[in-house]
Amino acid sequence: HGNCAENNVFYQAMEEVIYSIAPLLESDERYSRFGILDRLVVPDRIIKFKVTWLDDNNQIQVNTGYRVQFNNALGPYKGGLRFHPSVNEGILKFLGFEQILKNSLTGLPIGGAKGGSDFDPKGKSDFEVMKFCTAFMTELHKYIGPRIDVPAGDIGVGAREIGYLFGEYKKITSSYEGALTGKPYFLGGSLMRPEATGYGVVYFTQSMLEIENKEPLEGKICTVSGAGNVALHVIEKLQEIGAVVVTCSDSHGTVYDPRGIDLALVKELKLNRSNSLEMYVQTHTEAKYTPVSEYPEGEHAVWNIPCYAAFPCATQNELFEADARNLIENGCVSVSEGANMPSTPNAIALLQSHKVCFAPAKAANAGGVAVSEFEMSQNASMSKWSYEKVNYKLEETMQMICKRVALTAKDYGVEGNYVDGANIAGFKKVADAMIAEGI
Ligand code: NDP
Repeated sequence: HGNCAENNVFYQAMEEVIYSIAPLLESDERYSRFGILDRLVVPDRIIKFKVTWLDDNNQIQVNTGYRVQFNNALGPYKGGLRFHPSVNEGILKFLGFEQILKNSLTGLPIGGAKGGSDFDPKGKSDFEVMKFCTAFMTELHKYIGPRIDVPAGDIGVGAREIGYLFGEYKKITSSYEGALTGKPYFLGGSLMRPEATGYGVVYFTQSMLEIENKEPLEGKICTVSGAGNVALHVIEKLQEIGAVVVTCSDSHGTVYDPRGIDLALVKELKLNRSNSLEMYVQTHTEAKYTPVSEYPEGEHAVWNIPCYAAFPCATQNELFEADARNLIENGCVSVSEGANMPSTPNAIALLQSHKVCFAPAKAANAGGVAVSEFEMSQNASMSKWSYEKVNYKLEETMQMICKRVALTAKDYGVEGNYVDGANIAGFKKVADAMIAEGI
């Protein structure tokens, strides 16, 4: 299984799923007879390649590119590309494994994959990003295609990067086809793809609170971590429905604005990649900025702010047991994961034992990949859907996932446990398809 330390996050994700699905495996002996678990935890293939490119000083730079094609029982491999210096095989295996079950939960015909590079887009010029994307696609194009594997964005990969990747794919293959999603609108992208993950998290949370007989989000204080694609759109939708979002954060620190986050300003600061959130307090003197170096030990500055609902939306392992304790003590009613695996296993256990509604990433943030699949549909039929149609289908999909997860948990004797419900419902569909197709 490769480098052990690198694989820790993968084992963390796998362990949670194996623990959750025990009642399902016990209820049907076919899953062990067909060796489903042994087959599912090993990716179909891991593609690892060298990416060589020239920086603006004409110096040669070398990075590593990856694509982990995990499972295509339900449809073409599908999952994002992450460009971040922390990227390694273990992180991509964890993300790819989660993606199989997430994609299964959407009910759409898509398998699971993930990819990316240790390339750091931060501080790079537009041309350098373009040259890197071009070099990356020179190798990646051999392994992808609209019916084979359809990558999308993730951390460090937005519409700009997908545009460059798509341009190169088109040049090499001479084919204008939906081999990537998250494309800019005029290159065949779908309306609402940028908003989809964040909006979807809020739709899911609204459904969950209704099912669990909790008060709705309207007028409630909410805390959000992150200031990227997912976080900004969670904040946008929460504000639109009348909730008051008082925090956001990035890799350098946290902003707490008791009067409500000024989203336009945060967008401006983050779009201009050189600006830090620290500048927020220059114009908003009522707000407080806490740099990472001043976070209490073992805690994140966002989660000690009292809130009704919390939304971790930055990255993996950013909500620890001590944070969960702070949230509980402050009366938090729900935690919804916008990022992938932001909460540690101990944090989740503590929240659940205190009856905090907990929406796991693979269910709550599936809206992004759902709209990616809508983009594939639009590309395949050479059509464009209206904003209203995409929004309606997204909301419907998130409500369907939420109900299915809640019902599955009830059926398997773990009512209210959305982690187990999501793992069992996601696993069952893939496992049944794997049994049907034989080995
Ligand atoms: P972005 O790159 O747009 O934003 C990431 C945000 O998280 C930034 O604010 C970034 O800070 C912060 N961040 C990244 N790494 C760290 C770190 N190591 N420590 C602290 N903060 C960090 O990414 P997205 O918003 O697209 O993705 C966020 C999460 O959501 C990821 O877990 C991703 O896998 C998941 N996700 C994204 C989907 C999508 O559609 N985009 C779909 C489903 C899941 P800074 O600005 O300082 O870099």
